[in-house]
Amino acid sequence: MQLDYNVVYSPNRKTLTITVERDRSIVVKAPTGTSQEKIDRIIESHKLWLYEKTHHSQKYLPPLHPPGKELVNGESLLYLGRSYRLEIIDISNEIALVNDRFLVPSNLINRQGTVFRDWYIQRAKETILPRVQYYAERLDVLFNEAKIGDSKYRWGSCTPKNNAIFNWRLIKAPMSIINYVIVHELTHLLEPNHTPRFWGIVKSQIPQMDKAKQWLRVNGSLLDEML
Ligand SMILES: [Zn+2]
Repeated sequence: MQLDYNVVYSPNRKTLTITVERDRSIVVKAPTGTSQEKIDRIIESHKLWLYEKTHHSQKYLPPLHPPGKELVNGESLLYLGRSYRLEIIDISNEIALVNDRFLVPSNLINRQGTVFRDWYIQRAKETILPRVQYYAERLDVLFNEAKIGDSKYRWGSCTPKNNAIFNWRLIKAPMSIINYVIVHELTHLLEPNHTPRFWGIVKSQIPQMDKAKQWLRVNGSLLDEML
């Protein structure tokens, strides 16, 4: 069984707790710096309890909002770290970002699920790939090809053939986070493991590295939300 949960880190906290909210979402509260492995272990050891709590048919109210986003006026979507409201319009044939709003042609709304995906993938190509080139030059690494991919589990990866692949969902994150993921993957071409040398190189390009890692841990699941 798959359990989704959010982690809230706090510097003042000493212990790890798991709570199930009224909407049945699972929240892990953890001291800042708690490793992902430790959180995974806790979730694993409470799996049955959590399963019961989140699937109980009476005690817990159904979620207030149906899961997932909807292609309707007023819904909001992320792009480069900002949230934009949707406005469905009758003119035009393509999505446009104008005056802080996503204008969505009404003839596209029956394509819920793919219409924004294509838009995001296109923006990811335009925005992320030139940054890969930029940081590769700064780090003095050679990569074979940089691509935008569709992994559900990773933000980026480097293949043995030195292809760097980045998850298109990253385009929803702030540029500072995208830069971190790019540098992280390119640094693997110099140092395959997460050694102190590895983190030293990443930090030389991304001084805010720790903040970026934290951001992804806390907000990563937001990037998965889709229409
Ligand atoms: Zn890595």
